[in-house]
Amino acid sequence: MTEIRLHDTLAREKRVFEPADPKRVTLYVCGPTVYNRAHIGNARPAVVFDVLARLLRHIYGEASLAYARNVTDIDDRIIEAARSEGVDPSAIAERYERHYLEDMGALGVSPPEIAPHATHNVAEMVAMIARLIETGNAYEADGHVLFNVPSDPDYGALGRRDRDSMIAGARVEVASYKKDPADFVLWKPSPDDMIGWDSPWGRGRPGWHIECSAMIEAHLGETIDIHGGGLDLIFPHHENEIAQSRCAHGGAPLARYWVHNGFLSMAGSEKMSKSLGNVVTVGELLEQGHKGEILRLALLSAHYRQPLEWSENLIFSEGQRLTRWYRAYEVLLGRGAWDEEAFPPHDLVIRSLVDDLNTPGALSVISTLLDMAFSLRGHESEVDDAPAMADLRRAIAAAKLLGFLSVEPTVWFRGANEDNRIEALVTARSEAKRQRDFAEADRIRAALAAEGIMLEDGPEGTIWRRA
Ligand SMILES: [Zn+2]
Repeated sequence: MTEIRLHDTLAREKRVFEPADPKRVTLYVCGPTVYNRAHIGNARPAVVFDVLARLLRHIYGEASLAYARNVTDIDDRIIEAARSEGVDPSAIAERYERHYLEDMGALGVSPPEIAPHATHNVAEMVAMIARLIETGNAYEADGHVLFNVPSDPDYGALGRRDRDSMIAGARVEVASYKKDPADFVLWKPSPDDMIGWDSPWGRGRPGWHIECSAMIEAHLGETIDIHGGGLDLIFPHHENEIAQSRCAHGGAPLARYWVHNGFLSMAGSEKMSKSLGNVVTVGELLEQGHKGEILRLALLSAHYRQPLEWSENLIFSEGQRLTRWYRAYEVLLGRGAWDEEAFPPHDLVIRSLVDDLNTPGALSVISTLLDMAFSLRGHESEVDDAPAMADLRRAIAAAKLLGFLSVEPTVWFRGANEDNRIEALVTARSEAKRQRDFAEADRIRAALAAEGIMLEDGPEGTIWRRA
């Protein structure tokens, strides 16, 4: 079986991935808090872990993955939004969960096997909190239940921060009822006019961190194979998840591998975040006419652990790359359809993916292979070089595994007549150059320039852009 290597945040190195049970590989990723539209930075973990899930299903078998991505449908920001609109919190949560699923669907993200909702798992959270009180790791104070951080000597191993920076970084509320400033909330009281659940500590609602620990236990088990999320969740969220679960489970670790994706920033600015106001939502990008598959390609163009700088240029260049893939697909289909089962994803692409999800490597292998398709055009007799054709078909299969080429080329290019015309001229110019008819090549370049279309010749061929 192909070996996957993943960078484990806890071990701080790449490790060979060995699931506890290859017949049931467990993956949990912290999902959305559904109170507004997802921005493109929120989409990065959804797309990255969708690729990891696809790779795990490919290697261990479709039915062998249990991937859970939760929906935080109770949260103070949801309550706030509901109050300002004068509606029930569930109306806000349902609306934005629907948007989230539509937006992620447009980016080719397959629904995970399990999508647990916080409001459906409150009993499990209450049970886990009760256990933490029993073990001496949590205490009740002033209607709240708090996790006592000093009760867990191993607290902080994931982020390896010192205690002062953890307290400062968590911006934890300094409340008089806390035994220690680092203690965090497991349960908080709800006034009568606010959404709440009955508990041994009075009517209230859960804190955010306990949600993930309780749902992982309920849906996947005490120790899972992979826990994923954005880098910004390491502290305090994942540190707190680890502490809660380990203390509730007699020391059993929460996850055997921790995988975190890097930040997304807008070109020329800092990390994209709502508080900085430099946010572009997935919905806005789709409304501007950007195709979801191009946005997906842009999100996977950098390695998942690296920062990704988002820009119009990135969308443009990835759009050109995807256009070339679809052109190649069209050329191949032009030679007749094939049995897709007989052509599994190309080994070179899989080899990149299993190396800590090296998507830039995988995408460039696909591009290199598919560029060979263009040499098939107009050379009917030389077509049936069987190994080359197999490579091309397997490159198509690899692109599909990664969530690309999801429609027929005819569908993709529908409405793209203008682009087609330009593509045809660019191709005609390349052909003229190949035949050393430089006068014709220059004529086409000048004609396109007059329309504001600029050409750039590179080792991968010619790309064009509107000036
Ligand atoms: Zn979580």
